[in-house]
Amino acid sequence: RRGAGARAGTPAISLEQISKTYRSGGENVQAVRGVDLRIEQGEFFSLLGPSGCGKTTTMRMIAGFEDPSSGTVRLHGEEVTGVPPNRRDVNMVFQSYALFPHMTVFDNVAFGLRRRNTPGADIRRAVAEALELVELSGRERTKPGRLSGGQQQRVALARALVNRPSALLLDEPLGALDLKLRQAMQIELKRIQREVGITFVYVTHDQGEALTMSDRIAVMNGGRVEQLGTPAEIYERPATRFTAGFIGTSNLLSGTVTGHSGDRATVRVEGAGEIPAIGAAAPGSRVDLTVRPEKIALETADPPGDRARLSGTVAEVVYLGSATHYTVRLGDGTEMVVFRQNSSDAASAAERGDTVWVSWRPEHAYALPG
Ligand code: ATP
Repeated sequence: RRGAGARAGTPAISLEQISKTYRSGGENVQAVRGVDLRIEQGEFFSLLGPSGCGKTTTMRMIAGFEDPSSGTVRLHGEEVTGVPPNRRDVNMVFQSYALFPHMTVFDNVAFGLRRRNTPGADIRRAVAEALELVELSGRERTKPGRLSGGQQQRVALARALVNRPSALLLDEPLGALDLKLRQAMQIELKRIQREVGITFVYVTHDQGEALTMSDRIAVMNGGRVEQLGTPAEIYERPATRFTAGFIGTSNLLSGTVTGHSGDRATVRVEGAGEIPAIGAAAPGSRVDLTVRPEKIALETADPPGDRARLSGTVAEVVYLGSATHYTVRLGDGTEMVVFRQNSSDAASAAERGDTVWVSWRPEHAYALPG
């Protein structure tokens, strides 16, 4: 589901050919390189990528903490490049909460409204609403130090939402929480975003987090947007080797295109023969063939029908309760990972050392530019 604002209209946030070069110790560091993005009103949008890929810099340029070296930032169609952060209708939430320890929860949340001389009755109403939204009603008089990490992050969220900005920018806000709490907060953040209908831009290096919460994800690598799409699009159809490797688990087999028609290609993989795949690369080009582990069937007999198939030996079996992960070593030493759900009707299990066939439907393999 896209955010309510996915209808045609002015995007909430647009970045046009944004670049940022830092000067650091006499050297230039190109943190962001020509990024174009349109983020729709009401969207939960994530910037996802490894450390140093430029996601925080991109977000800081949206907030106004950093000026782009070139390019334009627009909020609701209006250019804001060079406008200071406090004059932009966006708030930011940090991993470090940045709460005032000597103030109560109420005073922390009310802080920005007081600075703007909002009347007392309006402040009380807005703070009560914000605390209800994050399920902290009744904790108004508590000091942050007496709250858990998750609760402190909720206070930071209430403080950022209390003046109803048009967009909220969140930089790894759950990074300091342990895994269980982080997963609970992911669901919670998504609920809050849906309830308030505010555009969320979320920075994370955690692919699971981005897949769980986002309407759309921009995968970043080396200062560029590597791929843009819904979680399902990015997971199901990684467009590059980088995305295939960064998101989820992928099997990558390198090969050469021997023929193609339309968006179907035939790829010769050393020691495995000709394998059909989706891809438009020209004959002769080097590609990586990628297949997701859960799209692969594992059998002890040569599978019937038109499935792509390879044979190998089971090298590793990891039993995980609801699923089993197999590592299959092919003739040339390449290893493939196969995930199998342990449903009640699952075929008999394979064991280490067994000779097996791995197979998949041709449309589940993608030939990515090498
Ligand atoms: P992380 O998840 O580690 O924060 P990131 O994807 O958010 O990484 P950025 O923080 O945007 O990446 O950094 C991108 C590049 O710019 C990195 O090489 C970083 O070292 C560099 N960089 C960031 N801020 C500055 C700065 N103020 N001065 C110099 N170089 C910087």
